[in-house]
Amino acid sequence: MFKIEAVVVGAGVIGLSIARALAARGLEVLVLESEPGIGQGISSRNSEVIHAGLYYAPGSLKARLCVVGRRALYQYCADRNVPHRRCGKLVVAATPEEDAALVAIKERAEANGVEAIALIGAARLNEIEPHVRGTSALLSNTTGIIDSHALMLSLQGDAEAAGATVQLRTPFAEASFGSSSVTLRTGGAEPAEIETGLLVNAAGLKAWDVSARLHGLDPKTIPPRHLAKGSYFSMTERAPFSRLIYPVPMSGGLGIHLTFDLGGEARFGPDVEWVDAVDYAVDPGRKQAFCAAIRRYWPELPDDVLVPAYAGVRPRIAGPGDAPGDFVIQGPKATGHQRYVALYGIESPGLTASLAIGDYVASLALA
Ligand SMILES: Cc1cc2nc3c(=O)[nH]c(=O)nc-3n(C[C@H](O)[C@H](O)[C@H](O)COP(=O)(O)OP(=O)(O)OC[C@H]3O[C@@H](n4cnc5c(N)ncnc54)[C@H](O)[C@@H]3O)c2cc1C
Repeated sequence: MFKIEAVVVGAGVIGLSIARALAARGLEVLVLESEPGIGQGISSRNSEVIHAGLYYAPGSLKARLCVVGRRALYQYCADRNVPHRRCGKLVVAATPEEDAALVAIKERAEANGVEAIALIGAARLNEIEPHVRGTSALLSNTTGIIDSHALMLSLQGDAEAAGATVQLRTPFAEASFGSSSVTLRTGGAEPAEIETGLLVNAAGLKAWDVSARLHGLDPKTIPPRHLAKGSYFSMTERAPFSRLIYPVPMSGGLGIHLTFDLGGEARFGPDVEWVDAVDYAVDPGRKQAFCAAIRRYWPELPDDVLVPAYAGVRPRIAGPGDAPGDFVIQGPKATGHQRYVALYGIESPGLTASLAIGDYVASLALA
């Protein structure tokens, strides 16, 4: 039987960051990934926004890890030449009633320690983004965009340089706890048995499934799972904005916002659709609802420039109508097993927080 100090299940941005953090602390790490490449799950189906940390409940893991992770991420991108741009963002109030919501978001952001934010009036908004219509806006200067695949390649490179191995096409199948180790089996073309001193579950949408295959884990430690699909439409023309444009958040999501990638291609989304199973098809019939939402802050949106693009699925602890849930990151105390760390509900701002999550998991596991 093959023996290794730590096994991480999942080579998305979170698993790679955890592997990097564990390897940097001297552990021998093996990352198991079922797909033929890294980052083919949630990590390649998102908005690629580096979030400032405006919205999350003060003190929550989302708030803390987003703000710390965002600062670390900008530094990391600069050090490693990961393509990114600190383009800034506007959250736009479309009606006087929404002005009050922006004040509340600003207060929450300040409580989270977010820097470089300012409320601006309609005249200033018109000056800096002439095509956006609103009664006021919250300007966030630390929001940006990133090439998420380049980030993951860089994290993988760091982890491998510190001795970690990423094993593709190798699904985790099941495991059982021994007194001082975990014995796990992998599937795929060459099934193997591995004994490890630490198992980290960073399997994204499949984290629940991985935990369910752990013999000896108390099922009560596994939180509820809800799936919130988010579809995107892209624009066939360039959008006339230099910052990301967001509405005041709607229930269940941040609202249909405009982001662009580093090549300048604009896209709108994601919306929120509660689903029972993962399915990435974009329903062209959602276009009318997108147009109506976008025209609240960009009335001149031309007809027929939106085309279905892609969709992602958020793994959520909280369901429809519930208050937004936090990340759930269970160290050995919470899982009830010295050798097991599990992550559930790593939705947005997981990409922004990835470096901070890596460090947090390493500190929980090695405490
Ligand atoms: C619509 C949407 C928009 C978002 N926008 C943003 C944003 O703008 N900014 C931001 O900061 N965050 C954003 N996020 C959140 C961010 O994308 C996620 O938090 C992050 O990508 C989660 O990464 P992960 O590694 O946990 O999951 P994944 O990337 O899904 O990685 C999990 C990996 O585990 C593998 N796996 C699963 N089961 C097994 C198994 N049995 N054996 C081996 N491997 C397995 C999968 O193949 C996958 O590669 C968004 C999310 C969504 C859905």
